[in-house]
Amino acid sequence: MADLKLENITKRFKKVIAIENLNFEVKNNEFFVLFGPAGAGKTTTLNIIAGIYTPDTGRFYMNGKLMNLVEPAERNVAMVFENYALYPHMTVYENMSSPLRSPMTHITGEENIRREVTRVAEMLGIAQLLERRPSELSNGQRQRVALGRALVRKPEVYLMDEPIAHLDAKLRHMMRAELKEMQAKLNATTIYVTHDYLEALSLADRIAVLNKGQIVQVGTPDEIYYRPATEFVAECFGDPAINIHEGELVNQNGDIYVRMLGQVIPSKVPGNVVQKLKAVGRNIHVGIRPNDIQFYLDGPVAGTITGKVYSFEPLGAKGVLNVSFGNELLRIKAPVNTQVTPDQPIQVLINMENAIFFDCEKRHFLARSEQLGEDSAWLN
Ligand code: ADP
Ligand code: MG
Repeated sequence: MADLKLENITKRFKKVIAIENLNFEVKNNEFFVLFGPAGAGKTTTLNIIAGIYTPDTGRFYMNGKLMNLVEPAERNVAMVFENYALYPHMTVYENMSSPLRSPMTHITGEENIRREVTRVAEMLGIAQLLERRPSELSNGQRQRVALGRALVRKPEVYLMDEPIAHLDAKLRHMMRAELKEMQAKLNATTIYVTHDYLEALSLADRIAVLNKGQIVQVGTPDEIYYRPATEFVAECFGDPAINIHEGELVNQNGDIYVRMLGQVIPSKVPGNVVQKLKAVGRNIHVGIRPNDIQFYLDGPVAGTITGKVYSFEPLGAKGVLNVSFGNELLRIKAPVNTQVTPDQPIQVLINMENAIFFDCEKRHFLARSEQLGEDSAWLN
């Protein structure tokens, strides 16, 4: 049981401001993800919570109690780092049970220790490895042992710093699913750091997006994906990244359309969006995700605009089709077996129900249609 609160936390290293005026709260049992590019301040934030760093200014509370001056050992948090350090001369069992042998834990007696280690090892699928040494394990197995060592302690808070970032893509995918399952069983507050947007979206109850030491947005995965607070957030959550283009609102017989990519897009701007754009004038930025655009290689299709194939990049299971409109490019997600040749005409269907509108100066979120459901489409 633990809730956390960070209030106006700032931490500098000489001239570098690692985090500035951070404010967020983590609820009891929440799986809270800190997301951001390298150098954003994620690890510094975890270290403040763990007590390894003292903030220069601001307050950190756990269960309502001010923690700034509480020693790390007295905080009842467990940290899992990307660079897991296992004792090489000890077996998996000895590695996992070592935290239970500290005088701080309430577990005593070898039987009780063995029961606890076995429970966690079964949860992580490593029960058959307990007598091996780290050198006899794969990377993925070692990572599980490191996780296991944090989990046996039953702390109030787990802090995980990119715990699966260095695993290969396939293993990461598998571990992501397992972490999700584990999260349901753990019943503990977890703060999980990652720079992988899919990991963030699929694991988190809520995500805090950090950039250059500051929080840009805190929200549920659906809020972050469908209502990104800024263009930066929109660009971080998706691969290939969202298309963002300059647009101009035009009135045609009382209906509002967008002129972008050198033409008027034949899809009405939804009424509820028009209401929200009224105050900002004609010029806006329009974001459309590559998986929200359809394309057609033959036959005239109603409602499309016509561009030219620029290039096609097969990327694993999917491909990215780059389509040119004058000197602007549109990225479209396409099946990996798509057959196209450069300069071939291509018809593109853009639905303004899917568009995300941003302010062209501040690059802040303005509006998105409320007609469409928010259906966690990133999982597809
Ligand atoms: P992240 O984990 O998001 O990659 P960090 O919290 O590690 O980011 O770092 C945030 C900023 O603070 C970076 O500019 C980094 O270089 C700086 N920084 C972090 N730790 C130290 C340190 N111990 N000494 C000096 N600068 C540091
Ligand atoms: Mg880090």
